Formats: sequence, structure tokens, C-alpha cells
Amino acid sequence: LANLMDVSFADIISKCMSLGIMVSINQRLDAEVIELVAGEFNYEVEFIGLDDAEEEDEEIEDDEEDLLPRAPIVTIMGHVDHGKTSLLDYIRSANVVAGEAGGITQHIGAYQVTINGDKKITFLDTPGHEAFTAMRARGAKAADVAVIVIAADDAVMPQTKEAISHAQAASLPMIFAINKIDKDGANPAKIYEQLSQMNILVEEWGGKYQSQEISAKKGLNVDLLLEKILLEADLLNLRANPDREASGTIIEASLDKGRGYVATVLVQNGTLRQSDLMVSGQYFGRLKALTNERNQRVTEVPPSAPVQILGLNGAPQAGEKFKIYTDESEAKDVATKRSQIIREQGLRTRKHITLDEIGRRLALGNFKELQIIIKGDVDGSVEALSDSLQKLSTEEIVVNVVHKAVGQISESDVLLATASDAIIIGFNVRPSSQASRLAQNEGVEIKTYSIIYNAIEEVKSAMEGMLEPKV
Ligand code: GDP
Repeated sequence: LANLMDVSFADIISKCMSLGIMVSINQRLDAEVIELVAGEFNYEVEFIGLDDAEEEDEEIEDDEEDLLPRAPIVTIMGHVDHGKTSLLDYIRSANVVAGEAGGITQHIGAYQVTINGDKKITFLDTPGHEAFTAMRARGAKAADVAVIVIAADDAVMPQTKEAISHAQAASLPMIFAINKIDKDGANPAKIYEQLSQMNILVEEWGGKYQSQEISAKKGLNVDLLLEKILLEADLLNLRANPDREASGTIIEASLDKGRGYVATVLVQNGTLRQSDLMVSGQYFGRLKALTNERNQRVTEVPPSAPVQILGLNGAPQAGEKFKIYTDESEAKDVATKRSQIIREQGLRTRKHITLDEIGRRLALGNFKELQIIIKGDVDGSVEALSDSLQKLSTEEIVVNVVHKAVGQISESDVLLATASDAIIIGFNVRPSSQASRLAQNEGVEIKTYSIIYNAIEEVKSAMEGMLEPKV
């Protein structure tokens, strides 16, 4: 930094000290300190590097005429025991009956099936919203459609509501699969009624959400559900350019004793080829073998298809993006630079919004929505708090309650907060110890109150600070 600004090390160190930061000569400063110090010397800082490298990737837009339809990618979410795994299992095995070349014999984290001869759908093979949200928290947008499974002999349960909140926070279209209709006591109408109380109206009730009554166990009406997924996909007009280098997301990765590092990737644009040079996170490598979920070796993987790869020199985290490079030394540089930074700084936590930070962000001019998650001890106070906070919305800033529920603040809440950059407000409830730890690691703010008025006042004054930023 001293070299860049053409000042002496001592100047930097004494400037840091005057700002109350004790540093040594070979210490790495964090971004905020660099900004502060540079500001003191009348420099403006522009950070280029990792994040930019990834953003740059998204900036390369495809020409309209290069875009071709791609298969929808579907995630299945819902309450425990409502039948997510059964549904995934049925679709996987029914497809074998349909006579597709080779049965799905490998669990690689995602699979693709063909319907009506030529229509494909990709399913993420890890049921539940935890996996999905953990990925989203890392910035991955891995699914196009969410199927929310609800058991017709049960009810809309806490995890059903959570799944709905997660899908809504990710702006994912939802299709409702009302499962277990083969069971005595199945009452789909009751489920529709409960959904309507959450402002979710299915088509049969005059609303916009598709729903399908099914039995995942018996395979009843699952074909109709698949048709509805295809219909939803048509509306989304999902397209990609197969004629470019592949990019996409890591679904899972591990170290296999015999084969080395194995990863399942989802190709989201372009075509992935054997011997491509891949970089994902701090790892890179030339792809040695591509194997699909039918245990077949493939040489080319089109958009929306999952594939298991060998050749990376490590196991990237699920949700990490990947990119293909042509220049070996460039690929190596990018990966090495990332691992250096990770080593030096430990896992860099992304800074999330805090009440204190609201004013600063508004001053930057791009802060329009305050996302809040509310957990409380009883329904009445959760509703009251949610209503009051939403009413704080002004023309400049909208208060948006991403999720509200009764109960302890859980890891799932923190993941949702990470993914949607939300603050968590607890009323007469506390975070679980795992949730606290995760929140600390992820930099998520959890505020707890025992008086509703205090919660409202604090958010309000933060928002007012936000409206009159100190210059
Ligand atoms: P998950 O926790 O949501 O993945 O639920 P599972 O798929 O593991 O299902 C939980 C239980 O419900 C299992 O015992 C399944 O056999 C059963 N089950 C799932 N779908 C149906 C169904 O359509 N009808 C009946 N009768 N049982 C089902």
C-alpha cells in the first residue's frame, strides 16, 4: 500500500496508529482499513481481484441468437417425512422403466431424466432446504424451480413454511406436491386452506401456484407433476449458450481413496468437455474423466446437466462456482492467489448488514430494502412485530420480512439470513449454540428483545439514521 501511494511504511503505520489500529510492517490490512488509510492520503481505492474475476464472468453476455432452450433444474423441499426422498427415488427409478439408456445407478448429487421422449428435467438429489440455502449463501443460483412437498395426511408444518420462505427469498417459482394421497386421512383441501392463510393460492383456488396431488410411494400422478414442472419451465424461457466454455456450480466434492478428488458439477452455461482446464475456488486441474449419473463416460456435457468430474487438485465447497480457462498458467495463478488469500486471512467472512451499518450503506446510495427474519416465542408477538416493522417502510426503504416463525433461532434461519442479507430479530427467544456460532462465522447480526417497543424503536432509529446520513 505504501508503494502504491508512494509514501513511506512509517507514514502508513503512524496513520494506522492515529486511527487506533496497531499494525506491523508485514501485516496484511483488511479492506476497510485500506480504504480508511488511503482516504487519509487522498486516494480512492478500487478493489480488483477475486470478486471481480467472478463478476467479470457474468458480464460476458451471450448473443440472443446463440441461446438455446435448456432443461429446468429443480430442487425438492418440504417438512421432514413428507416424502421428498420418496419422490426423488420414484422419479429416478420410474425413469429406468421408461427405457432410457442405462438406469440411474450413481448418487452424484443431481440427476437428469427425460420425459415425453425429448424433454429433460434436472433434479438436485439432496432433498431439503438446508443444502439449497447453504449453496445460495455462497452466491450460487443452482435451481430454477422449487417443488414443495406437503403430506396430505399432515399439515403445513414449520419446515414447510421455512421451505416456502427460502424459495421466496430466492425468487424461485414454486409448485406444490400434495403427497400421500393414497393414505386414509389424506385431506388435500385442508392443505390448500392452510396455504391460503399464508397468501398462497393454488390454481384450483383461483391462485397462480400450480399444485399436484400425488403419491410418491405408489408413483401416482408423478407424471402429471413432471408435466407441470415442464410447463413452469416453459414460462421461464430458460436458455443457455452451449457454444462457449462451460461455467456452473459445484454440487458436491470429496476425496475418494482410489480416484482422488471427485466433484459433481452442474453445467449452467456452455459445454463442459473432457480435458477442459477448470478452476473452482482455490483449486484447479485438467479434467480427466467425466461420468454421468448412469455411470457412463461422457466427453461433452451440455447446459443444465450434472456430471461427476475427476482432475481437480482439491475439493471445492458445494455452491462454489467453476470456470474454464484456456491458459494453464493463468488458471494456476488464479487458484494460487485465492489459496494465498484464504491462508493469510482465514476464511474471509462476507460482511452482512447490521443495524449500525444501515446508515453507512444508505449513504452509498444503493440500499433500498431492509430484510428481516423474525423469530418469537408466540404467534401473536411474531405477527405484531412483523406488522409493526413492515409499517416502518418509507418511500426510500422497504422493510421486508423474509421469514417469520415461532421458535428458537436456528442454523437454518442464519443460512437464510446469509443468503438474503437479512438481520435476525428474536423476540423472547435466543439462538441455539450452533446458530450463534454460524452467525458469528458468517457475520450475520442477531438482535434479541423482550419488549416489542424496543425492537421497533431500534429498527426505526437505525432507519432514520439511514435517512440522514452523517457526511
Ligand atoms: P422425507 O423426509 O421428506 O425425505 O420423507 P421420506 O421420503 O423419507 O418419507 C417418509 C415416510 O413417508 C417414509 O416411510 C415413506 O415410505 C412414506 N411415504 C412417502 N411418500 C408416501 C406416499 O405417497 N404414501 C405413503 N403411504 N407413504 C409415503
